[in-house]
Amino acid sequence: MSLSKLRWIPISKQEKLQIIESNILPSALYGIEMTGGCPSVAKVLQSAIADVIGARAQRRSQLGAFEVQKKKKDLDPEVAIMVRRAALLRRRMDKFPHLEEKIKAIVERYEEVDKECEGKEFDVHDEEGVTLKRAGPVGFFMDNLKEVQARLTIGLDIEHDEEQRISLKHAPWQKLQEDVQELAKKKRSGKAAQEREAYAELQEVDSVAIRAAISKRSPDELNIIRHSASVAGWTAAKKQEAGIQEDNRCQLCQQVENNHAHMQWKCIAIHSKRKETYMKKVNPEDLPKHLLMGMPGMMCKEIHTTFWGRTFGETGTKDKLARAKMGLPKDAAQASPPP
Ligand SMILES: [Zn+2]
Repeated sequence: MSLSKLRWIPISKQEKLQIIESNILPSALYGIEMTGGCPSVAKVLQSAIADVIGARAQRRSQLGAFEVQKKKKDLDPEVAIMVRRAALLRRRMDKFPHLEEKIKAIVERYEEVDKECEGKEFDVHDEEGVTLKRAGPVGFFMDNLKEVQARLTIGLDIEHDEEQRISLKHAPWQKLQEDVQELAKKKRSGKAAQEREAYAELQEVDSVAIRAAISKRSPDELNIIRHSASVAGWTAAKKQEAGIQEDNRCQLCQQVENNHAHMQWKCIAIHSKRKETYMKKVNPEDLPKHLLMGMPGMMCKEIHTTFWGRTFGETGTKDKLARAKMGLPKDAAQASPPP
């Protein structure tokens, strides 16, 4: 079954996801733990999968395709590769305990070389001046970790400055895969933040929040959410530019539409149909751009700000319920931090 065929077969997205997970990914990534793989082929595979499971529009971002899914397991090949490599090391150590010392020795040697290179790119030359790269299951996994600013310690812990340590040897099996998956996703959200203006403030996607929000949505509703979160839509202004539409006005409310978030937050016609009325009273400028499109970022740790770090003074929403929903204290007096 090829992905290009799968895209057009009249079965549900859920069934397509199942086929990709159980059939296409395992055969495409067979043996990836032992080899470097080909980055350009991985990119093609990644975009072909996003075409099948994501929004159909050309302008869609891959981030929305992979993140707005009910399944916990991420189908992005780049993420799956890192999880598979971590899983292999763990499985080998469980089965053959003597390998642990070998793996530690390999990590130690790579660290020494890294130090010799004084933190520069891993760079060792053989006698003929050819650059040697990290190789083998341990080396490739260490390279993957480096891509997301994480590292493997000699004690076989996975370290990242903003995350809890993950023990490759002792973490419960299920948890190990989940944690490594979350770590691997950082590369994708970082790339999306660079490429799309709507994701510019996005540091990390809150996958738990997405799954909770979409768990009871129908396939059609899910398609709408995915379309929006992938920033796949065309504004009226863009349509006019491309000659698809005569003016730059929203077809529903006749206001000028030059912003992707118009439909969700500013359209009077849509507001008149809303059941949750506090949504109309939220000042869209108070929310991060990615959230306006339906892509939640990680919550911040401050308690006197919105969930996304804006203080009372920086927000313009007046409605009490709307403010409470955004994480702000209901009264202005409570909003200022204690001296
Ligand atoms: Zn409108």
